[in-house]
Amino acid sequence: MASSSPPAPPTSRPPPPFAPQNPKPVPGSLPAAFSSMQISRAPPPFAAPGGPPPGNGPAATSSIRAPPPGARPFLGSLPPPPFAARPAAPLQQPPPPFGGPPATLASQPQMQMQRPTFGGLLSGPRSQVQRAPFGEPPSGVPQQPPSFGGPPAAASQPDPFSGPPAATSQPPPFGGPPAAVSQLSPFGGPPPAAAPAQPAPIGGALYSAAQPPPFGGPPGAVPQTAPSGGLRPPFGWPPAQSQQVQFGGPPQFGGPRPGAQPPPFGAQAAPISQAPPFMGPPGGNAPTFVPPGWQGQSRPGAVPGGMQPSMRMSGMPGGMAPNALGQGMLPASTPTMPYSPHAGAQVSTPSKIDPNQIPRPIPETSVIIFETRQGGQAAVPPAASSEFIVKDTGNCNPRLMRCTMNQIPCTGDLLTTSGMPLALLVQPFALPHPSEEPIQLVDFGDMGPIRCSRCKAYINPFMRFIDQGKQFICNLCGFSNDTPREYFCNLGPDGRRRDADDRPELCRGTVEFIATKEFLVRDPMPAVYFFLIDVSMNAVHTGATAAACSAISQALSDLPEGPRTMVGIATFDSAIHFYSLKRAQQLPLMLIVPDVQDVYTPLQTDLILPISECCENLEQLLESIPNMFENNRVADSAFGAAMKASFLAMKSTGGKLLVFQSVLPSVGIGSLSAREADGRSNISTADKEAHKLLQPVDKTLKTMALEFAEYQVCVDVFLTTQSYVDIASISVVPNTTGGRVYYYYPFSALSDPAKLFNDLRWNISRPQGFEAVMRVRCSQGLQVQDYFGNFCKRVPTDIDLPAIDSDKTIMVTFKHDDKLQENSECAFQCALLYTTVFGQRRIRVINLSLSCTNMLSNLFRYADLETQFTYVVKQAANGIPSTPLSQVRDQVTNTCISILQSYRKYCTSVSSSGQLILPEALKLLPLYTLALTKSIGLCNDGRLDDRSYWASIVSSISVLLAIQLVFPRMIALHDLTSRDDDDSLIPSPLTLNSENIHDDGVYLLENGEDGYIYVGNSVDPVTIEQIFGVSSLAGVSNQLVLEQFDNELSRKVNEVVNEIRRQRCSYLRLRLCKKGDPSGDFFRSLLVEDKAPGGLSYVEFLVHVHRQIQSKMT
Ligand SMILES: [Zn+2]
Repeated sequence: MASSSPPAPPTSRPPPPFAPQNPKPVPGSLPAAFSSMQISRAPPPFAAPGGPPPGNGPAATSSIRAPPPGARPFLGSLPPPPFAARPAAPLQQPPPPFGGPPATLASQPQMQMQRPTFGGLLSGPRSQVQRAPFGEPPSGVPQQPPSFGGPPAAASQPDPFSGPPAATSQPPPFGGPPAAVSQLSPFGGPPPAAAPAQPAPIGGALYSAAQPPPFGGPPGAVPQTAPSGGLRPPFGWPPAQSQQVQFGGPPQFGGPRPGAQPPPFGAQAAPISQAPPFMGPPGGNAPTFVPPGWQGQSRPGAVPGGMQPSMRMSGMPGGMAPNALGQGMLPASTPTMPYSPHAGAQVSTPSKIDPNQIPRPIPETSVIIFETRQGGQAAVPPAASSEFIVKDTGNCNPRLMRCTMNQIPCTGDLLTTSGMPLALLVQPFALPHPSEEPIQLVDFGDMGPIRCSRCKAYINPFMRFIDQGKQFICNLCGFSNDTPREYFCNLGPDGRRRDADDRPELCRGTVEFIATKEFLVRDPMPAVYFFLIDVSMNAVHTGATAAACSAISQALSDLPEGPRTMVGIATFDSAIHFYSLKRAQQLPLMLIVPDVQDVYTPLQTDLILPISECCENLEQLLESIPNMFENNRVADSAFGAAMKASFLAMKSTGGKLLVFQSVLPSVGIGSLSAREADGRSNISTADKEAHKLLQPVDKTLKTMALEFAEYQVCVDVFLTTQSYVDIASISVVPNTTGGRVYYYYPFSALSDPAKLFNDLRWNISRPQGFEAVMRVRCSQGLQVQDYFGNFCKRVPTDIDLPAIDSDKTIMVTFKHDDKLQENSECAFQCALLYTTVFGQRRIRVINLSLSCTNMLSNLFRYADLETQFTYVVKQAANGIPSTPLSQVRDQVTNTCISILQSYRKYCTSVSSSGQLILPEALKLLPLYTLALTKSIGLCNDGRLDDRSYWASIVSSISVLLAIQLVFPRMIALHDLTSRDDDDSLIPSPLTLNSENIHDDGVYLLENGEDGYIYVGNSVDPVTIEQIFGVSSLAGVSNQLVLEQFDNELSRKVNEVVNEIRRQRCSYLRLRLCKKGDPSGDFFRSLLVEDKAPGGLSYVEFLVHVHRQIQSKMT
């Protein structure tokens, strides 16, 4: 067992030919899925799918850059894309046979696998014992119809053809052969050429003996054929020869990826599929964890006990040097640093506050190496926003799971006193740093993962083996379990199992287990992608339909490869149009469902086909759709009905439903109405009922969403609109099914298609899993209070995630139900059962064990600012629909005040009440809190849809992006060329106040979603010409398409923008803001330190907080 890392699930795509020769990630290279994020070209030409990508893009620039001299291991502070990590694999394994057939590739891993140390696990008969995966039957799942057990669900669904379907008798609105429409024959027969289901290259080859066939149904039941030669049919151009040719860089709009970059679906399992990083004891790899940037790094100030001397005190962001207590002090009004043993940051009385001395984030400039445990205890993780490389030495990588506090209060009273939240932020598929070791995959064969027989917790490094190894004590419930005979191992003199360092599950905070049959209620589902496109009049006229078709067409090549990838498509206005894409048909067959109140799916088969069978037809159709509906006069949009009908088509498999919607849904089930004067009215604070407009209008869509989730259908909605669409109601569907809302408002056919394509491409190519169930367990003494995020919850203990991806974060809150023992550890374990895009069922287990404490001061010292603040942001978003905005803002501010007051009252002995004393770890809490009260979600101004959108994305946002969304980054662009070459790509951020904005400057402010480029009114025309290519900005649209011109400044600006997009895994939309224009005023409203009509300045806010604390103290 402990067979680490069966390589490369994405087997049907040959690995990059020169990965082995290029084992180091190229620091400057963009991730594959973002390689096209240049905006320096014209909007996508909606090229004919069959033709080569247009070669006229400026492209090239950002793609295959040479690493800058003296480059650090990576640039930017965000976890880089997973693919970058893949090239490391060949270091430890023989290079794969390049270009070999998939079978060869797939079998490669097998040779690399370590055999289990106990017998026959790969080949023995499978256990028939049915144990519930999480201690009880997975909720909801058992009711699912078997998907692949027989002919597709015909019997279990109402027969759509029981009556003469009106649909098929309608003439098609496009020039298809009418005869075909009225015939049923194309669907009547069995699927042609139903080759015996062939095991997926991955699962089948890798775990051929130990794993059920991917499609367990009778051969032929599923119309599935092996991909020819394992390679997908080329999408109109030969993949090999067009690589790197057309653009000289990564393709911009869905062209084939250059060979330099691994396939995106390396991402899915890349961390798992890499060669075993630890062939021996972990210590052996230590040298690899010393990148140049780390050496010689030192930190001022003594590091107190409990903090690891070699580590940065990275849970404490900011630049203050820690004093002897690990606290920093802020000088009140003098430039000296009056250290006091008890003080945190201090801010003096109102009159004396020096704006230059108040706490502000100071970004880390060097890479932090972080070992998750040292000296037998948890180390304090680096700030989420810093650059760090993690070595998992027992606790999980903090990217995957981090707690609001790094020591856990023993009692609920202590927690309450602190005013702080106790919560985990879990991002189970967070992108790793390329230098981090992959998560290892462990196969226990038929035995399945070892678990506590009482609480069903999974084996982990904190389970203690006793009695010479014959028993182990569960670290979560304390139960003493017998060690299974096959798993027995003697203990060493240190009391640990002698094999502990060789078994990932005993020495790593995060592992994945191959799920055994007991975790399956059906065969793992295929990767199904169903595209649903609004073709109503407005959608067509605004170019949204064409943009959607183009984006889909170009993103098709990024779908996971293999026979298990299936696609389907439908369009809708006031009716729903399905298409049968069978290859045999010359033209796609359209089937219309006119009844949008009681919808059905017109066919049980042929609507969703393996992509290898229908790719060409699909591309052809996508090309035709904009023309087919060019003259469409139907303004109504049956959004809800179309989703429902698509769901019915997907019901037997589950999958991803990607909806492109452009107008307010107006007819059919789930239709909506403009609730508030086109949604444009501001919500006045005086209107006590205003927040109700941020609630879903009724339960129709929620009910629908619950049904979708039950059948593992995840919905993503791309809103390409120029009007109010009631996001409050629409977002319920993605937020319940593990999806998200994408929002393009006001949609511009000029600037938005690039974003739409990149968003779609990342959506389908990022690491992700399907039909997931997640549960978090914790030590006795605590219990899970609630989960927050985009999922469906049927039972209190588990959440169901029809889909989960690398961007999604789930917050889990805890409460005490007993005491924890001081000097003991409190354990958290997240178990995520999911299906890979290649059809393998796995359990990702993420462990975090933290010290317990009775000391309030420890809670403050070990507080995690960014995680706590993310908790506050999510709570606020959660409250927006049910609470008047002013109250939400007050709650947010009061949370901040309560925490600081507790610190002031119990943890400091400074007598002067004239000083505001901030705990070092939380000294930025007031600034972030102020920013939150001024954010789109909480400020008084703003459209309903903007606020609803903000709340919907916050629901699943990661810690890193939550901070960025609320507290944006601003940099100067006009002087990029005068910076030193060895500076990082992105200049140091400027303080967010107007003192930093000069009339002759150009600035970029980005929040992870949008980038605002502000241009002063006396900027050198040469600078304007260089950046924008025009001598005057007078006629330039605010919806900016940034092009790259042949000058140094333009190149640098584009580099910066591309790097930010890469860091954020998001294709920032650019907005031009000009001084003297409303857009310029808007830009200034984003400077959170400034006094604003609806909000205090930073200094004023500190004074306010201080006064509140003083009044509470007296
Ligand atoms: Zn237990």
